[in-house]
Amino acid sequence: MIQPERIRRLNAQPVVRGRYVLYWMQASQRAGCNHALEYAIARANGLGVPVVVAFGVTGDYPEANERHYAFMLEGLACVARDLKKRGIQFVVRHGSPERVAVEAAKGASLLVTDRGYLRHQHAWREHVAGHVGCEAIQVETDAVVPAETVSRKEEFAARTIRTKIHAHLKTFLVPPRETRPKQGSLAMRFNAPDRLDIEDVDGTLERLKIDRSVRRVRDYVGGADEADKLFTAFLHRKLADYATLRNEPSLDCVSHMSPYLHFGQVSPLDLALRVEESAAPRAAKDVFLEELIVRRELSINFVLYNERYDTYGCLPAWARATLRDQAGDRRAHVYSPDEFENAETHDPYWNAAQREMVLTGKMHNYMRMYWGKKIIEWSATPQEAFATALHLNNKYELDGRDPNSFAGVAWCFGKHDRPWTRRPVFGTVRWMNDKGLERKCDIKAYVTKVESMARP
Ligand SMILES: Cc1cc2nc3c(=O)[nH]c(=O)nc-3n(C[C@H](O)[C@H](O)[C@H](O)COP(=O)(O)OP(=O)(O)OC[C@H]3O[C@@H](n4cnc5c(N)ncnc54)[C@H](O)[C@@H]3O)c2cc1C
Repeated sequence: MIQPERIRRLNAQPVVRGRYVLYWMQASQRAGCNHALEYAIARANGLGVPVVVAFGVTGDYPEANERHYAFMLEGLACVARDLKKRGIQFVVRHGSPERVAVEAAKGASLLVTDRGYLRHQHAWREHVAGHVGCEAIQVETDAVVPAETVSRKEEFAARTIRTKIHAHLKTFLVPPRETRPKQGSLAMRFNAPDRLDIEDVDGTLERLKIDRSVRRVRDYVGGADEADKLFTAFLHRKLADYATLRNEPSLDCVSHMSPYLHFGQVSPLDLALRVEESAAPRAAKDVFLEELIVRRELSINFVLYNERYDTYGCLPAWARATLRDQAGDRRAHVYSPDEFENAETHDPYWNAAQREMVLTGKMHNYMRMYWGKKIIEWSATPQEAFATALHLNNKYELDGRDPNSFAGVAWCFGKHDRPWTRRPVFGTVRWMNDKGLERKCDIKAYVTKVESMARP
């Protein structure tokens, strides 16, 4: 059963006579625990036609570069293999997602898609719904609790959204049932000159016209198979200590699921169910589920209801007012966006965090907070700091350009937080300092770890 709250009709067109049901895959790039795929299969079985899955790879996805594309293509190769095992054809074309979807829908009875929460993702779905000649349905599968079921307005903080999410967990913490397609689609013919051989990741990556200023990383390999290996290791070796060690950046006591979640290569619901089934202590499970569900879905709520989520104007009025009051304060150091990018500050801890992100594509969570706070402290203005932090985050993090990216950066500036004691530059926005890092973690070991990564 797929909960009706996950399903939304996007246009008023009828189901028409067609050769297949189309699942236009966009945000949820996986074959497992995907409500949109299961819904498409069930509808196709009912109509007596097969399912075809289509995906458009555009070369100019907002802020994406080679690092992101390589990870995504590795994931799509995995999707192709997994769909093949279920007898479903995966048509991947070089083209903008909404154009590929509209063309692929020409032979379809019905179009099904998944849900994305960012502005351009809404716009693509709106375009597709308005340009196809058949019914278009969206099925939300990248949130444990559907976003509008949780709340119909922008929430202030984790404390205000937590109870709203928890009230629905019992209903939504159930896996979608896997349905067997009654008809396969592997033998169907689709002649498209811009079709990509998606199982050839290197060849496809070479073919695409993309921004190559940030190179591919080897530390994280994309795809559901890799995610499964990492998460299995996390459940067995790390989850029990997660509550106590997750904020120690010299260690590796985190799941590394964020890039996989960002590309929809894993389902947050599936991760949550696996955590629930594990033998880890209840306290550790609760801390992890707080991050995976409450914090992550607070970010979804933020980008859904705050139209200015990617600009300084998204910040709460109290935070903008207090930062404005301190705008004339003398800064002990002022760095340009380039100096930040090149890790040329006086602070070895900050530089190590920046290098970790540039080298591996993923900065430790605890360092992300310190990193963002110091960009505020050492930029000429808070507005410049906001733009620098968001730009660097989205350029280098494999999990960048996500609802969590916008909420994470905005948090450094007071979003989802409360006023603290007043201090220079920050006003009442929370501050962090290097002495705190030295007290709370083995920061010297972290710097040594990053230095060893940088060695050839
Ligand atoms: C300045 C700043 C920038 C950030 N940028 C991003 C970003 O671009 N993309 C991104 O996914 N996260 C971002 N975060 C949130 C957080 O740092 C990452 O989600 C986390 O480090 C991912 O690593 P992990 O998967 O190993 O986390 P784990 O600790 O294993 O957590 C599991 C999952 O819980 C969720 N989660 C954990 N911490 C948070 C959090 N603070 N807020 C929301 N969800 C959370 C993530 O989905 C994560 O994958 C940012 C935080 C800050 C302060």
